[in-house]
Amino acid sequence: MLLIQNGRVLDPYTGLDEKRDILIGDDGVIQSVAPSIAPAAGGTVFDAAGLTVAPGFVDGHVHFRDPGQTEKEDLHTGAAAAAAGGYATVICMANTLPTCDTAAQVRRVREETRNEPVEVLQAGAVTMGLKGQTLTDFDALAAAGAPCLTDDGINLTSAALCREAMARAARTGLLLSFHEEEPSLVPSPGVNFGSEAAKAFGVPGAMAAAETAMVARDIALALDTGARVLFQHISAAQSVALIRAGKALGAKIYAEATPHHLSLTEDDVPAHGTLARMNPPLRKEADRQALLLGLADGAIDMIATDHAPHTAAEKAREFASAPSGITGLETAFSVCNTYLVRAGHLSEMQLIEKMSKAPAEIYGLTGRAIAPGNFARLALLDFSCETVYRTYRSKAQNTPYTGMQLHGAPRGVICGARVESN
Ligand SMILES: [Zn+2]
Repeated sequence: MLLIQNGRVLDPYTGLDEKRDILIGDDGVIQSVAPSIAPAAGGTVFDAAGLTVAPGFVDGHVHFRDPGQTEKEDLHTGAAAAAAGGYATVICMANTLPTCDTAAQVRRVREETRNEPVEVLQAGAVTMGLKGQTLTDFDALAAAGAPCLTDDGINLTSAALCREAMARAARTGLLLSFHEEEPSLVPSPGVNFGSEAAKAFGVPGAMAAAETAMVARDIALALDTGARVLFQHISAAQSVALIRAGKALGAKIYAEATPHHLSLTEDDVPAHGTLARMNPPLRKEADRQALLLGLADGAIDMIATDHAPHTAAEKAREFASAPSGITGLETAFSVCNTYLVRAGHLSEMQLIEKMSKAPAEIYGLTGRAIAPGNFARLALLDFSCETVYRTYRSKAQNTPYTGMQLHGAPRGVICGARVESN
């Protein structure tokens, strides 16, 4: 038995925001949630005084680079980073080497992470080898446990193939998740087109229209086919407006935003260099404000980190040839608490909703409320401390947030009767 005492329970499923004790059985199932529970003889007690206990975060968008690029991250270090960040469940993208486009590969990740402190799910690819030509076996990937299919990192450029993918996915309700950047409108990736940063680094950059044009196309196709479609890491104001309009039209569409697009802009890129190089790029303050509004009014459903580890040597290259992306699992809560909650855009409850309940529901993960009968998947959070990140559990350190003064910190996760506290 594990008794979590003295914590503040903050649960968007039940609306509860009160001090509660939580008793978890040896099977990991929550037995009771009450104002005061006496410790049982022989049981373990975890004192959560000063901490908030919330439904564990769900990150629908991480890159653990396993197989193929495990010098950057692997399933084990990725899971450790997730646990440190308060994540109970993560979904790995399919752009591994080789590409995760078969049921056996999806099952391998589940099997190899069975003993990790967090649940690691694996997305399947939409097209074989992410080549945008031949669709994968959707039913086999879903049966193997893929919570969504995605060619993340690469735009699905053929509208006809995209429509075929949606028509096929719509038959079973399988979620398709799209990285929207029309390649011909991305003369060079990683930085906003025409920005001062692009000029300083001597590259043209990636147009916002590269994203909005694809979002517009895929809203039309989602309406046409009835498919469930998720727009990944939305960065541009017009994309938010299109998604809002698409939802009003009845499209079954969802959108995620990253902590970095919600907190930084193109003006931050010169100071951070390759640590602020990402696809889609950081855009203008007006875009960031539109993302914040979209998050608050529901146009943007959830927060996803796009945790993208790279080696120090790769990020030490000059801007034009460095890889895009930053790590995010360990800093996400602090960044979001600082830039979303402290800045007055979301309440603490809304932040938990965007990081746990909304993604869980979109990916079909049930039983996540802090309530008797549910398997315990809990985040331990401190909303009030001051935090400066210096070191990470991830193999990679490529984040612009190192050394920044942030507010609040994740303190780990409880998965079943197992406590992984930082
Ligand atoms: Zn992407």
